[in-house]
Amino acid sequence: MPAQILDGLALSKQLRAELKERVGVLKEKGITPRLEAIVAAQDPASLAYVRMKRKWAEAAGMESGSWEATAETTQEELLAKVHELNANPLVHGVLIQHPLPKHLDENAALMALGSEKDVDGITPQSLGRLVGDLPGFRCATPLGITKILKHYQIPTAGKHAIVIGRSVILGKPMALMLLQMNATVTIAHSKTENLPALCRQADIVVAAVGRAELVKADWIKPGAVVVDAGYNKVEGRTHDVGDVDFEGVSEVASWLTPVPGGVGPMTVASLLANCVEAAELSAI
Ligand code: NAP
Repeated sequence: MPAQILDGLALSKQLRAELKERVGVLKEKGITPRLEAIVAAQDPASLAYVRMKRKWAEAAGMESGSWEATAETTQEELLAKVHELNANPLVHGVLIQHPLPKHLDENAALMALGSEKDVDGITPQSLGRLVGDLPGFRCATPLGITKILKHYQIPTAGKHAIVIGRSVILGKPMALMLLQMNATVTIAHSKTENLPALCRQADIVVAAVGRAELVKADWIKPGAVVVDAGYNKVEGRTHDVGDVDFEGVSEVASWLTPVPGGVGPMTVASLLANCVEAAELSAI
C-alpha cells in the first residue's frame, strides 16, 4: 500500500484560516500584525519566496513590506535598517531572507535583530532559547514540520529519528525540536558514513539536504515516516523536486510529505503564526 500523504498544503490552509481569525481580533484592538522582510535585490529565488510570504500574510489580513539590499548597500545601512525595524512599534515581525548579498555580514544583522521580532526564529538569541528549552520563536521550517507530525499524530516519543542535514536554519533546530518531542535523534551530514544503513534504522526520516531525490526506497525502514524538506530545481522538471525519491519511497514508508505541497506551505504558515503571536504579545 502506498504511503499516506502528510498534506502540508491542506494543513497550512487550516492554520491560515485560524490566523485570519486571530488577526481579526487584533484589528479590533487597533493592532494589525505587520511582517517586514529584508531581501537581496539580485536574488530571484529570494524575491519570489518573499513575494509569496507577503501575499499569504496579506491574505490573512496582515500588513507586509520589504526592503531590498543591493550590491551598493553598505553594512551600516543594513544595520541601520534592522535598528529602524526594531524600534518601529507598528512592525511585529522581521524576516532576514537568506542569503543576503555576499559583501554583507548577515550574522551581524541577525545579531542586531530583537528576538521579540525574530519570527523566523534564526537569530542566535532564538536558537539559544531553543537549546535552553526556553520560550521564544522557533525556526519556521522545522516548526512547520513539528506541526505536521503533531497534526497527523505521528508518535515521536522513544522513536528513532534521523535528520539528514545540519544547517543552522533547518537540520540542527529540527534535531533539537525532535529531541524535545522525546525522539532519539541522529544527525547526518555530508561526512556521515553508511548513510543508507543508518537511515534504514530510523522510524522517522527528515531529509534536509538540498540534493534532488537523494533518499531512495532502500534507505527506508518499512513503515517509517518520511518528511522531505528539500526544494531543488532540476532541469527538465516542471516543478521543484524534493530530497526524497517520492515514487520509490512511497512504496515503503507509512507516511510521506509531497514536494510541492508538504513542508513549504507549512514553513510560511509557521512564519505567519509567529508574526501573529508577536503582535499578540505586543498587545499585552
Ligand atoms: P544547506 O545549508 O546547504 O545544508 C545542507 C545540509 O545537507 C548540510 O548539513 C550538508 O552537510 C548536508 N548534505 C549535503 N550533501 C549531503 C549528502 N550527500 N549526504 C548527507 N548530507 C548531505 O541547506 P538548507 O538550507 O538546510 O536546506 C536544505 C534543503 O531544504 C534545500 O533543498 C532547501 O531548498 C530546502 N529548504 C526548504 C525550506 C522550505 O520551506 N521547504 C526551507 C529551507 C530550506 P555538511 O554540513 O557536511 O555540508
